[in-house]
Amino acid sequence: MPIDIPAAIATLNGTIQLARGLAEASAELDKAELKLRIVGLVDQLVAAKDSFIDAREEIRNLETEIAQLKETTAKIEDLVEDQDFLYAKDDQGQRTGQPYCPRCLEVDGRLVSMHPTIGRSDWDRVCPQCKNDFLVDKRVRDADYARQTALIEQANRDDNY
Ligand SMILES: [Zn+2]
Repeated sequence: MPIDIPAAIATLNGTIQLARGLAEASAELDKAELKLRIVGLVDQLVAAKDSFIDAREEIRNLETEIAQLKETTAKIEDLVEDQDFLYAKDDQGQRTGQPYCPRCLEVDGRLVSMHPTIGRSDWDRVCPQCKNDFLVDKRVRDADYARQTALIEQANRDDNY
């Protein structure tokens, strides 16, 4: 949850004014009124403390997010692109392993390795995180189509003899 810094400062300003008013009027106030105002002051201090605890938590969350983004950025710089998809690279700088999901990288800033799935074509990959599937290897698909076309043409030629 985002911390409301202006509200926290307003709470502190209110607390300071309450303490000043209490200091100036303490001689004129009876014991019950003084006690009531001190309770109000303590309530305001507790609210201010809660605001700063929330702010500390928010800062920690942002620091964690920044560290994750830096880590992802460092990894992305070490990847290689092939047919619009990013891959890890081997010692020779060639793509290796499975491509990373472009949707998860763009939307969530995360590197999620996609997987081939049983019953799908060799050129398709599915993201285990967002479940989107992609045509990742047009060269394999085109080679397969060319092979099938050649087989059909060969069969047609054979039928004509
Ligand atoms: Zn994904």
